[in-house]
Amino acid sequence: MRDAIIVGAGPAGSYLSHLLSKQGYDVLNLEEHEEVGRPVECTGVVTERVFRYVRSRSIANTVSGANIVFPGNRTIKIGKQEKTIVIYRDSFDKDVSGMAIGSGADLRLGSRVRSVRVNDGYAEVEFRESGELISERARIVIGADGANSIVRKSLYGHRPSRVVSTYQVDASFTMDDQDSVSVFLGRDFSNGFFGWAVPTGNITRIGLGSIGKGALPYFLKMIRQFNPEPKILAITGGPIPISYMHRTSGNRSLLVGDAGGIVKPLTGGGIYTGIVSAYWAARAISEGFESDRLDQRFLQRYEKYWKSEIGRELRIDGMIQKFYAALNDRYLSRLYRSISSDRSIDIINSKGDIDYPSKLALQLFLKNPSIALSFLRGN
Ligand SMILES: Cc1cc2nc3c(=O)[nH]c(=O)nc-3n(C[C@H](O)[C@H](O)[C@H](O)COP(=O)(O)OP(=O)(O)OC[C@H]3O[C@@H](n4cnc5c(N)ncnc54)[C@H](O)[C@@H]3O)c2cc1C
Repeated sequence: MRDAIIVGAGPAGSYLSHLLSKQGYDVLNLEEHEEVGRPVECTGVVTERVFRYVRSRSIANTVSGANIVFPGNRTIKIGKQEKTIVIYRDSFDKDVSGMAIGSGADLRLGSRVRSVRVNDGYAEVEFRESGELISERARIVIGADGANSIVRKSLYGHRPSRVVSTYQVDASFTMDDQDSVSVFLGRDFSNGFFGWAVPTGNITRIGLGSIGKGALPYFLKMIRQFNPEPKILAITGGPIPISYMHRTSGNRSLLVGDAGGIVKPLTGGGIYTGIVSAYWAARAISEGFESDRLDQRFLQRYEKYWKSEIGRELRIDGMIQKFYAALNDRYLSRLYRSISSDRSIDIINSKGDIDYPSKLALQLFLKNPSIALSFLRGN
């Protein structure tokens, strides 16, 4: 019997495989695709914090600002001290997976997990590989299998309550400003989320997310707004859960990253939060191995661990996201007028942090009491 079976070789699963293997545990990492990192379903915007955990040089661009486009094409330009990094997501994932393999993890590609069950003695995972049905047992199973997690479906039943649908293209289009991402707000672009354009030289990643289903019509309209209309080189997209699961641990099981909805609600960014959750999962699991306790009660410490680092942030950001999602264009225009003053821009420039945006929101609320009042009233 293995020590751990980790389903999924995205950043969260590979990083967890690395940490557990490094401690000498027998880890089987199952990945349904034949190649790690493909197909790409990501814009690849991260902060330098990610590189405190992961060794990777897969960098496509670094940017230091953002153009926030409000309804009516009114734009606020912000800049930051620290750089935001745009990664090549496929090679980034390969780098993290390389760390896991280097530490001794057994990565099996083309292995699609079909079902998972647990009992008091072990976890059992059934997967299909080269047309054959295979079953493996381990002391614990971890769902690192993304937004449509089979581990979550098999053992936890429900899914995160708030999900964003997305579309994105790689377009042969060179943005004039290679040092800023553009963010498009308002009902022309999305139901409650936003659109984006991220420069990487002569290719621009253009996409949008929308709460619930139905992002496609917004997306087609958005693409037409670029002049000249860009040539599309690749198309991607998919769901992003933006609310974490009520429970991310169970008997002989844990959920990390997107599988547990451990994603930043305001931006839909889940690379950093997935890696943070994997870090704490490794800690809880190794403590469980040492004390031979992998029951639900013991593994609850995983929730405490990851929430102690990012739980408060995700909870507050989730509330702000719901508030933002309910705003109509008229209110967004009011918001534009409130925050387009030099003083507010200074606050954004000094406090803006895409991993921890609640600090900025708090400062802006203090500076603009009318926004705070609307937030408290829920409109
Ligand atoms: C269009 C788009 C843009 C995004 N942009 C950003 C961004 O700019 N910055 C950011 O931080 N985040 C972004 N995200 C979110 C980010 O991609 C995810 O949060 C992140 O990939 C989560 O990592 P993960 O390891 O939890 O899951 P994933 O990266 O989804 O990895 C899950 C892995 O599990 C495998 N798998 C799934 N089911 C099975 C199965 N049954 N058997 C075996 N293997 C299985 C999958 O093939 C996959 O390799 C974006 C998402 C989308 C859709």
